[in-house]
Amino acid sequence: MRIVIVGAGIAGISAAEELRRRDRTSEIVMISDEKYYYRAALSKYFQDVISKDEVQGKPENWYEANNIKLKPGKAMRIETGKQQVECDDGDIISYDKLLIATGAVPFVAPWPGLDLDGVCTYRGLECVEKFLRFIKAGARHAVVIGGGILSFELIENFLKVGLKVTFVVRGSQLLNLLFDDVAAGIIEKDLRTADVDIRFDTEAERFAGENGRVTGVVTKSGDTINCDIVAVAVGIKADGSLLEGSNITFDRAVIVDEYLRTSAPYVYAAGDCCAIKTGESAVRPTRTWLTSALQGRTAAGNMLGDERVFDEGVFFNVSHVFTSFYGVIGEFNPRDPEGFEFRSWRFSESSYMRWTLKGGTVVGAIIVNASHYIWPVRQLIESGVDVSEVVKGDPSPEDLNTLLPQHAQTLF
Ligand SMILES: Cc1cc2nc3c(=O)[nH]c(=O)nc-3n(C[C@H](O)[C@H](O)[C@H](O)COP(=O)(O)OP(=O)(O)OC[C@H]3O[C@@H](n4cnc5c(N)ncnc54)[C@H](O)[C@@H]3O)c2cc1C
Repeated sequence: MRIVIVGAGIAGISAAEELRRRDRTSEIVMISDEKYYYRAALSKYFQDVISKDEVQGKPENWYEANNIKLKPGKAMRIETGKQQVECDDGDIISYDKLLIATGAVPFVAPWPGLDLDGVCTYRGLECVEKFLRFIKAGARHAVVIGGGILSFELIENFLKVGLKVTFVVRGSQLLNLLFDDVAAGIIEKDLRTADVDIRFDTEAERFAGENGRVTGVVTKSGDTINCDIVAVAVGIKADGSLLEGSNITFDRAVIVDEYLRTSAPYVYAAGDCCAIKTGESAVRPTRTWLTSALQGRTAAGNMLGDERVFDEGVFFNVSHVFTSFYGVIGEFNPRDPEGFEFRSWRFSESSYMRWTLKGGTVVGAIIVNASHYIWPVRQLIESGVDVSEVVKGDPSPEDLNTLLPQHAQTLF
């Protein structure tokens, strides 16, 4: 059997590892236009904390050592009827099973001036190289556009290398998909303390430039923010161009069922590129490293004949945003709050927790700078224990400690 994987990111690599672990004989071919590396480590490379080599995910000889054929280049087309993938050098590769693990690309609006030197997105190693080149050439002021988590990594990177930073945010709250207003307020205060100039309720209209170099951002409210770097981090999207002309359903993402099968026989998808659709609507992709790895592994197992539903369990993500450490669990910030109740605790100026409750049980949480709660609250959510009596009494942090599983509190 020949299994072809398009994309050697964490989803593709995890799939290849699982396939090879369980099947020593099948032929595995990986097509990728990029080397595998840790995207989450890019900022550490930007800040000169680690070297470029340390960002790389696998040693050069990994493919050979695992009897995996790596074909560098881009897959251009999939012919599902013939079970073939066409590559950018004209090669045609046949498959018995195919995994699409092509990740995502930064979203950009058609802003005039997008092609000016100094305007960059943030996804890969080449983006960091670009930023570093501009900084080396004397850039002093960066404007960061977008409200997601990557914007904060960028701000941190720019401040670390001594740039002045202006942050353009479309809404009136930071991180509105991730946090409520209190949690967001903690981060906002951190940014202001670091002298970041935050411009809420405004958007970029175009980028101004001179001699092909960016010189400023013109906002919809008519302001011009002078700068020599513009970092665009307004979101990511899956790229469906590979699937054009195929019968693989693409609707803002590669649509898969709970077994990670696409609409075409023998074709699976995993990672940032896909969205699971079981009923009428596709589940919003979580697009994290761990989810991509787990999906890669599950898809690999299913390609080998397992019939395993991909179940992420309770959503769980722990990371840092600027100087704060946070965890978001389960239904941490429901889009439609109808039917949910919320309880929150402000432990200190910068430390906060909010629970989402439904029918007396905790179904989600936002936790900022109170890391000892993260693991116990996750366990509480997983346990489905009825906490209605406890929360009725407006519990103090001490009461919470008696409610939460104690043994797990030292994990973070
Ligand atoms: C700067 C940054 C920091 C991040 N930090 C975190 C974090 O702290 N925690 C976390 O959970 N997540 C983080 N993420 C998100 C995480 O990195 C992604 O969820 C994860 O990388 C997705 O893996 P993937 O394999 O699906 O896609 P990718 O990593 O994008 O890999 C897909 C690969 O396929 C290649 N490809 C695409 N199309 C083709 C084609 N047609 N032919 C050949 N090759 C193709 C791409 O070039 C790419 O190399 C971060 C992301 C970024 C950009």
